[in-house]
Amino acid sequence: MASLSLRNIQKYYQPGNVHVVKGFNLEIQDGEFIVFVGPSGCGKSTTLRMIAGLEDISSGELYIDDELVNDVDSGKRHISMVFQSYALYPHMSVYDNMSFALKIQKVPKAEIEKRIAPVAELLGLTPFLKRKPKALSGGQRQRVALGRAIVRDDTKVLLMDEPLSNLDAKLRVQMRSEIIKLHQRIQTTIIYVTHDQIEAMTMADRIVIMYQGITQQVGTPKQVYDYPENLFVASFIGTPGMNFIDGTIDSEGFFHIDKNISLKLEDKQFELIKQRGYIDQEVTLGIRPEDVILTNEKKPNTLAVEVDIAELLGAEYNIIFNLKEKALISKCKASIDLKAHQKILLNFDMKKAHIFDPKTTTRIYQKEIN
Ligand code: ADP
Ligand code: MG
Repeated sequence: MASLSLRNIQKYYQPGNVHVVKGFNLEIQDGEFIVFVGPSGCGKSTTLRMIAGLEDISSGELYIDDELVNDVDSGKRHISMVFQSYALYPHMSVYDNMSFALKIQKVPKAEIEKRIAPVAELLGLTPFLKRKPKALSGGQRQRVALGRAIVRDDTKVLLMDEPLSNLDAKLRVQMRSEIIKLHQRIQTTIIYVTHDQIEAMTMADRIVIMYQGITQQVGTPKQVYDYPENLFVASFIGTPGMNFIDGTIDSEGFFHIDKNISLKLEDKQFELIKQRGYIDQEVTLGIRPEDVILTNEKKPNTLAVEVDIAELLGAEYNIIFNLKEKALISKCKASIDLKAHQKILLNFDMKKAHIFDPKTTTRIYQKEIN
């Protein structure tokens, strides 16, 4: 187990001096489960590979347990890595795959057996130890790759790069919980890379959201969901995604979508908007689908709209409707029948609204203040 400190880490790829990681800063506590998430090409794998020592750090400092390791060989960093491709040796049995690193370290045979047995048990691999990888399912192969990473008792940090991407949806959900349970038992510091925000939300102690080589926000799943710091985070986290509506706020605290449609901000929210000088300026209001609520009463902040599409997901509907020619989504329980073109009332829960500056893309005020 170990703590890590990443201080202003940069990566430039040669040739061309392409800047792909632009000042990565993070303090990771011993035993934390950290997830790097972001769209393809944002620099997640590059950052992970720099931590593993598989890629040079162009500038900045990487500490593992207070030791500067920029120039320490990959093999001496006490890091294990699990890849998307599993990278198992096809001609070796499960047992040999899992014990390979120990053999190289010249760990005695009896000691290897002692170490493999509990790990195989933990991962449900005991019946398969003699099999070759090709005789295993995708999920079992991924477990062997995990097992191989954790049998080494010198592992301080476990790195995983999209380890579940090759599995089908159902197995992915199952392996997700297995990895969470594994972490609870072994309590090793884990850095896990994924492009899947649901994986990030469900697995992480803290999430690092990356975009174009820049860290957009670091926080617990709840923090990044409830208080996204900018439009990218707001749109990337959550399914269906947050609704965004452009408009202006008047001196009475009304957010005007157009001449006839407006929503009243909460008093505290409005006070902060006013203090920051955003009256009559273009702003973007963000509101999550579950905060646009189907209702029967014409309360304040309730708009009459027409259902465009009602997607039934079993227990819930995604109600897609248009506001000022823009498709928005409300999420509600499927306790009533809904049809296209039906007229409905939707209440916008303005306590849950987020206001962003569309020019800088950042949140105008902190929602915690509410
Ligand atoms: P992610 O894992 O988030 O999808 P990567 O870290 O793999 O992103 O890549 C970040 C950026 O760096 C991408 O634009 C990618 O094309 C580029 N890149 C990755 N590896 C190399 C390399 N060896 N040489 C040059 N560019 C690279
Ligand atoms: Mg990658």
